[in-house]
Amino acid sequence: MTLPFIDLQAQRLRLGGKIEAAVQEAVVGGAWVMGPQVRQFEADLAAFGQAKHALGCANGTDALALPLMAWGVGRGDAVFVPSFTFAATAEVVPWFDAEPVFIDVDATTYNMDPAHLEAAIEATLKEGRLKPRVVIAVDLFGQPADYPAIKAICDKHGLKLISDSAQGFGCTINGEHPLKWADITTTSFFPAKPLGCYGDGGAVLTNDDDLAQLIDSIRVHGKAVAIDLKDKAFDHDPKYLNMRIGLNSRLDTIQAAVLIEKL
Ligand SMILES: *Cc1c(COP(=O)(O)O)cnc(C)c1O
Repeated sequence: MTLPFIDLQAQRLRLGGKIEAAVQEAVVGGAWVMGPQVRQFEADLAAFGQAKHALGCANGTDALALPLMAWGVGRGDAVFVPSFTFAATAEVVPWFDAEPVFIDVDATTYNMDPAHLEAAIEATLKEGRLKPRVVIAVDLFGQPADYPAIKAICDKHGLKLISDSAQGFGCTINGEHPLKWADITTTSFFPAKPLGCYGDGGAVLTNDDDLAQLIDSIRVHGKAVAIDLKDKAFDHDPKYLNMRIGLNSRLDTIQAAVLIEKL
C-alpha cells in the first residue's frame, strides 16, 4: 500500500460539496475580479490572524514583493533571509536590485538563527557596501521563527520585519500570531500550503494602516487610494489615476470562495 505524501483530495472530499457550491455561486455571481467573496475572505482572514488588515494577492511570492515595494527597497539595500527556505523568500529581493544576505538556520527548528542574524547585520554594517533594511523570517514546517529574539534585533538596528508564513500560516507563540512582532505577515494559498486554494493565491496581514493602503494601491497598478486623494478634488473619477509603479496581483473571486470554506 502506498500512502501519498500530500493527499489534497482527502480534504476536498471531507469538506463535501460546500466548496463546489461556493465556486458555483462565484461563477454565477459574475464578480470574478475583486468580488464580494474577496472582501469577505479578507475580513475573515484578518479576524483569524489577529490583524487590522488582510489583503489578498496573486500568490505568496508577490505577497513578499508587495511590502518591499511599499518600503522602497532597492539598489544598495540588504535583505536578510534564512539559508533554508523555499526559493521565493530570497528570489524577490533581486527583483528590486537589492541583495539577499543568507542567515544560518537553527539545527533543531530549521528556522532563522537569531545569533547569526545579529552577526550578519554587524558584518554587513562593517563592510559598508549595503544598507541593512529588512529581515524576512520564515515559519517552516508549521513552526514559528523565534520572533521575540528576531524582533529585538530588528528594533536595535531599525529594520523592518516580514514573517513569511507560507509554510506555517496560523502558527502562534503563546497564542500570539507572528504579526505581534512582525510589521507584516505574508502567506501563500498554493494548494499544498497549510491553507490552500484551488490554484494560486496569497495574502498579507498587517496592523499598519498606511502600509495596508500602499499595498492595496500597488496590487492594482498603483491605483489612487485614500492617502493619495486626501485634500484633493477631482472633476473626474480618480479610478484611473496611477500614483506609483505597481503590479497586477489580485486574489481571484473564485479562489476567495474556496478559501472562505476552508479557513
Ligand atoms: C510557497 C512559498 C512561497 C511562495 O508562494 P507561491 O504562492 O508559490 O508564490 C514563499 N515562501 C515560502 C516559505 C513558501 O513555502
